[in-house]
Amino acid sequence: MHCPFCGTPDTRVIDSRLSAEGDKVRRRRECLRCNARFTTYEVAELLMPPVVKRDGRREPFLDEKLRTGLMRALEKRPVSAERIEELLQRIRNRARASSERELSSRQIGEWVMDELRQIDPVAYVRFASVYRSFEDVNAFREEIERLQTPPGAPDNR
Ligand SMILES: [Zn+2]
Repeated sequence: MHCPFCGTPDTRVIDSRLSAEGDKVRRRRECLRCNARFTTYEVAELLMPPVVKRDGRREPFLDEKLRTGLMRALEKRPVSAERIEELLQRIRNRARASSERELSSRQIGEWVMDELRQIDPVAYVRFASVYRSFEDVNAFREEIERLQTPPGAPDNR
């Protein structure tokens, strides 16, 4: 870290502490040449990898877009706003945790389907039918059959 006053690269950290929220580190530094003191902050860079769409175009990871798709699938379903937010947060976490430099829209769709399958089967089928744009009727039927496999599961239709 260069000294902002004289530009020398020789500065040292004299104090280092975590913010009350635990989301940044504040460091006091001292310049070894001009003795000026200054403060730096270290925060995590929470960047989402860009999303590559099926046609190969890239776009930023858009929270709103994901939320809109989810809300459409969950319309009139008995799922609280809180659970939807939790679901969104898990998707964001997976996106950030993935070591990929870019994500495919297909991958994100699979994550959403994983989540919806556990939360609400009807929303899952709605989302899957739009997202996967089932090529044929058989693919759609296979999804429905997969949902019906857990014995004793409540019938929502
Ligand atoms: Zn200096």
